[in-house]
Amino acid sequence: MDFDFNEEQKMIQETIRKFAKEEIAPVASENDKKAQFPHDLFKKLAGLGFMGTPIPEEYGGAGFDYISHSIVAEEIGRVDSSLRGTYSVQVSLVELPIFKFGNEEQKKKYLPTLTSGEWIGCYGLTEPNSGSDPASMISTATEDGNYYVLNGQKTWITNAGIADVAIVYAKTDKEAGARGITGFLVEREWEGFSTKDLHDKLGLRASNTGEIFLENCRVPKENILGEVNKGFKVALGTLDFGRYTVAAGSVGLAQGCIDICKEYAKQRIQFGKPIASFQLVQQMIADMVVECEAGRLLVYRAGDMKNKGLPNIRETSIAKYYCSEMANRVAYKAIQIHGGYGFSGEYDVERFYRDARINTLYEGTSQIQQLIIGAIELGIKAFV
Ligand code: FAD
Repeated sequence: MDFDFNEEQKMIQETIRKFAKEEIAPVASENDKKAQFPHDLFKKLAGLGFMGTPIPEEYGGAGFDYISHSIVAEEIGRVDSSLRGTYSVQVSLVELPIFKFGNEEQKKKYLPTLTSGEWIGCYGLTEPNSGSDPASMISTATEDGNYYVLNGQKTWITNAGIADVAIVYAKTDKEAGARGITGFLVEREWEGFSTKDLHDKLGLRASNTGEIFLENCRVPKENILGEVNKGFKVALGTLDFGRYTVAAGSVGLAQGCIDICKEYAKQRIQFGKPIASFQLVQQMIADMVVECEAGRLLVYRAGDMKNKGLPNIRETSIAKYYCSEMANRVAYKAIQIHGGYGFSGEYDVERFYRDARINTLYEGTSQIQQLIIGAIELGIKAFV
């Protein structure tokens, strides 16, 4: 196993790190406070090729490998988890499933507009009464000539209110459970498709989150993603891409906390000395660094397996579970190192602490990751 980055990966890390430091970090706190999505930064990231990181160049992507994909997620997450979330959805939950499961026409039609940042995408699986158990969804798609007519509601959808196209899952066979679900590519402008923003979130405030309403929304058959009644495979295959960038983004969040705490501990004076000189503070920094490094290696292992085309559900779930929980532990310590000031919105660690919380919840909660890992380890059929 080679732990060194190749020249391309080094260049990508340098470019995205500089962009994150110079352009994303200075406005992250303001965007969080105003709960506003930075459309300009999204476009600039796309201009640098980062909204199509692992998508081949023939479809408008950058054609980078999966380690590079994690590098981009980590570096954005190091300064702004809201924007990292948008990156994850655009690339991992929308572009990659179109690339992996879509037909040639769909790839040619949708991928260049998404990778160029002209269009924003979203991924609609969760419903008000169907979260960890997506097979229990009640949205329906009824065949009508060359169309399917979609009815239902999706909730907690990242980018819903700003998306031009949505991947939406619905039941094409109500009696067949997971084997009766189909994925559809639905455009915002089509009749019967509408959204409503959700507000008052604990974290990811600069990211758009909303509901999708489908009311007799007619979707042409050519917009079926994958095959009829095989959408569950598409949905879960997609989550495997998403979990990977949530893991990488969690490493970035942890690294961001470490960066800030190192600076703060050296300049905060108590008992006549910088708090960095106290061994109990050094211990917290050491624990943060060890956990962050361990998480990063889990991400790289999953990425390496993705690059090699090896099955990696187990390794991706391990990375997602460990890194998302780890980011919460690290953010907790970051507040501790800041003392009372960490409790104030004036300091970035407060935002990092709130933003860390979502990572153990979406793209499969920690309990769902434990169930997947446990089932694979025991050789029994995973329930998802
Ligand atoms: P539930 O499934 O109701 O779970 C509640 C609790 O029960 C959890 O602790 C869970 O771990 C536990 N639990 C459930 N089943 C089991 C079990 N079998 N064994 C043990 N414990 C169990 N969804 C999308 O489709 N697209 C998006 O873009 C998207 N973005 C999101 C953005 C945000 C900010 C948020 C908050 C959510 C987003 N989601 C999105 C939804 C997210 O994926 C779900 O919230 C998540 O899957 C959990 O579902 P739930 O909230 O219904 O919780």
